[in-house]
Amino acid sequence: METYDLAVIGVGGMGSAIVAHAAARKLKVLGLEQFSIPNIRGSSHGATRILRLGLHEGPTYVPLVLRAVELWKQLGEKIGTPIFHNCGGLDVALPDSRIFEGAKAACEKFGVAHEILDAAETHRRFPAIKPASDMLTVYQPGSGFVLPELAITAQVNLGLENGAEIHGHERVLGCRTHRARLVFAKMQSRKLQTGPAAHLDRGCAGHRAFLRLSNFWNSRFQTWPPARDSIARN
Ligand SMILES: Cc1cc2nc3c(=O)[nH]c(=O)nc-3n(C[C@H](O)[C@H](O)[C@H](O)COP(=O)(O)OP(=O)(O)OC[C@H]3O[C@@H](n4cnc5c(N)ncnc54)[C@H](O)[C@@H]3O)c2cc1C
Repeated sequence: METYDLAVIGVGGMGSAIVAHAAARKLKVLGLEQFSIPNIRGSSHGATRILRLGLHEGPTYVPLVLRAVELWKQLGEKIGTPIFHNCGGLDVALPDSRIFEGAKAACEKFGVAHEILDAAETHRRFPAIKPASDMLTVYQPGSGFVLPELAITAQVNLGLENGAEIHGHERVLGCRTHRARLVFAKMQSRKLQTGPAAHLDRGCAGHRAFLRLSNFWNSRFQTWPPARDSIARN
């Protein structure tokens, strides 16, 4: 029966990153995706995703984003094509709004380079954008955007290079735990089943986490769509 240190259900933006980094740390990793990889039916499809450094949602996230930028740059260098594009970012909002105050506070707390622009200056520098006259902008030159589908493909390839086993078109139909450990997951394809179910084991000390990534991430860190009182553009 196959055993794994870590099983990742859902190989989208988050899952592919976990697969790549866990495999690089020599864990035996299984990645299972119900559709193709990448696919257009999850959240990570399309051309771009904005990456803001001074996150108005909370300064807690800023160190994570700064680290993510480093990793996107490294991954882009490895594949010879940039994944993160540094075009700068604007948070445009009313001065007393959560968006403006939050972005400004996050930048200040972590020393993220930024400028505060009034509406006229925002329009002068970025003619495509014409905020209402009472709005202010937190301009962050270090922000930009990520190419999500390229990112997923690169991360999956990195995982495969490091020995991860990754399957598309393999829906997990259910799983069971025993004493807080995942003992098996039921999958769609016969290929991965041992009898009616495959066995997943997280035996590696220090990595005792089985993550239902999609649900975990989306329920805690969802940052989209932006609040109504803001206009965020890159
Ligand atoms: C239109 C849009 C615009 C966005 N813009 C931004 C932005 O500009 N900046 C930003 O930071 N964020 C943005 N977001 C949010 C960001 O894209 C998501 O938070 C992120 O892509 C979520 O990644 P994920 O891996 O958690 O989810 P997903 O990419 O959805 O991956 C989850 C995967 O799990 C698979 N799966 C689910 N159940 C099973 C199962 N039982 N068995 C096997 N596989 C399963 C799914 O098929 C899917 O591929 C945007 C989201 C959307 C929808």
